[in-house]
Amino acid sequence: MKFRNWMKVCLALTLAGGAALAQNTDWNALGKQWWSHVQYLADDSLEGRGTGSEGFEKAATYMAEQFRAAGLEPAGVDGYRQPMDFQVVKLDESRCSLDLLRDGKTQPVKLGDDAILGVSSHAAENVKAGAVFAGYGLTVPESHYDDLAAQDVKGKIVVFVTGGPSDMPGPVKAHYQSGEERRKALARAGAVGTITIQNPKSAEIPWSRIAASRFQPRMELADPGKDAPPPLPLGISFNPAQAEMLFAGSGHTFQEILTALNEDKPLPHFPLAVEVHARVGMTRSRVKSENVVAVLPGSDPQLKKEYVVVSAHLDHLGIGEPVNGDRIYNGAMDDASGDASLIEIARAMKGSKPRRSILFLSVTAEEKGELGSQYFAAHPTVSGPIVADINMDMYLPLFPLKYLEVQGLGESTLGDDVRAVAGEAGVQIQADKEPEHNRFIRSDQYSFIKKGVPSLAFKFGWVPGTPEAKTFKAWYAERYHGPSDDLSQPVDVAAAAQFDAILAKLTLRVADADQRPEWKADSFFRRFAQ
Ligand SMILES: [Zn+2]
Repeated sequence: MKFRNWMKVCLALTLAGGAALAQNTDWNALGKQWWSHVQYLADDSLEGRGTGSEGFEKAATYMAEQFRAAGLEPAGVDGYRQPMDFQVVKLDESRCSLDLLRDGKTQPVKLGDDAILGVSSHAAENVKAGAVFAGYGLTVPESHYDDLAAQDVKGKIVVFVTGGPSDMPGPVKAHYQSGEERRKALARAGAVGTITIQNPKSAEIPWSRIAASRFQPRMELADPGKDAPPPLPLGISFNPAQAEMLFAGSGHTFQEILTALNEDKPLPHFPLAVEVHARVGMTRSRVKSENVVAVLPGSDPQLKKEYVVVSAHLDHLGIGEPVNGDRIYNGAMDDASGDASLIEIARAMKGSKPRRSILFLSVTAEEKGELGSQYFAAHPTVSGPIVADINMDMYLPLFPLKYLEVQGLGESTLGDDVRAVAGEAGVQIQADKEPEHNRFIRSDQYSFIKKGVPSLAFKFGWVPGTPEAKTFKAWYAERYHGPSDDLSQPVDVAAAAQFDAILAKLTLRVADADQRPEWKADSFFRRFAQ
């Protein structure tokens, strides 16, 4: 970062240069400012900002207005907006059934309690097929690991538990568990469907909440770009507590699988003694939504053609099944917090002249499978190369910012940048402590990573065994993707403002560096950058 710019950032953020997070900064005041945006976006009147809803439209208007007020220029295709079309598929359970056929007998599976049927624009309405258990259901060429090779899965439904062998590197496991990679491998092997059993070791939310979300409409991009593999005809999620019924008669039990998981032993592969019969009722429609895109133009005649993206998602789950009488899924942390940070980071940069251009991107349809960012990556609204994505999704400012957990820390030079700025602020960096949750590929940064763009994502860090660890885990158990992720929850707004300050410095550092960020030589994700 150039000294001149550095001074401006210091003034804008009222940070004491180089020192720990300044004592004389009124973090509470900055935090309240940040919180005011969360209050608007997560208010009940926005009805959970479901993709395509009126509440989302209000949120998009607010973002465009705030970006304009922060001095950013429009960078969408229609002012600040980048509109796109979606196909919508909704489950009609009155026309659904799921049966297990065994020895001429039919065992009905209770939808909601035992299993849920997935829907997609490619879903078949009637599927009857044999089933095999295929461990983690993973195909990982570079590890010479293939759960699908051990038996014939052609024309079959592949049953698997999520996760992967403990000796496989986290990013590799995460990448090959992405929906896209799974679909490619399963389609190649000729499978007609999947039954996914959530690995109890990495379960984030109880089955009851997963089941409650099954009536959420599924959305797909009307124009997904050319390389997107189509969904399989059938996708079922099975309640791990009821999974034993799938294994009856096979000579194996689900308990045996759980024991192997707990002992880190390889999982067996075997045919199941059932035929699965699914009838899937769906209704289809179309909807429009949009990304909100703004730019702080760069000042260097050459480097201004390059863009550093700072992103967050604007959509949440909208209105859904009531929990404790509340039907509005406000998404205050997920991810109104990130959009509020986008605004505050933009405001803090007002008047600064970064060498590269900085693109502020608030995307739609993240909760529908990172579709808005996928659309942006496939149809960028700026012509120059995107050199980095710094993504904020539910970074969880629930306690003071002593540790910052960074996903993708060891993958690119961005990791060195975040170490440097956090170090100056007296905040300790942590690597992803729970790689089994696949967080590096579970938000919008992954749409950029797949296009070769070095990226980072964040969570407030904690140390195991502390009250902060408890708070963090309790948040996932109680509020994640529930109506209680709302404005009544306790949030450390001063810590959020400190986070914003660190991210603003990080973004400017990357925008001002002589060299654009690069993947590390040994990074798994380097493969996407040709
Ligand atoms: Zn979410």
